[in-house]
Amino acid sequence: MSDQAYRHELMKCPACGKGLDGSMPVTGDRGPKDGDFTVCVFCMEILEFQGNELVKPDITNIPMDVFPMLIKAQFVVLEMLLERRESEA
Ligand SMILES: [Zn+2]
Repeated sequence: MSDQAYRHELMKCPACGKGLDGSMPVTGDRGPKDGDFTVCVFCMEILEFQGNELVKPDITNIPMDVFPMLIKAQFVVLEMLLERRESEA
């Protein structure tokens, strides 16, 4: 995973409603494009960039080779959420 974060237009997570305005590419080195998948940094939901918004994708349309990356991204988010919780305790 690249450490490079890309800012983009503020988009609302359709699962938790929180605003997302940045992402880190898992492969390649560019900002998000339509059809790219992402994981919400607040609720770990798998999302897809479509137009200027984030949507919940039909999970059966996600290519099988993409799943391991999404699950790894969810794990990274989980670690961040747990660290955040510890620092707030
Ligand atoms: Zn969310």
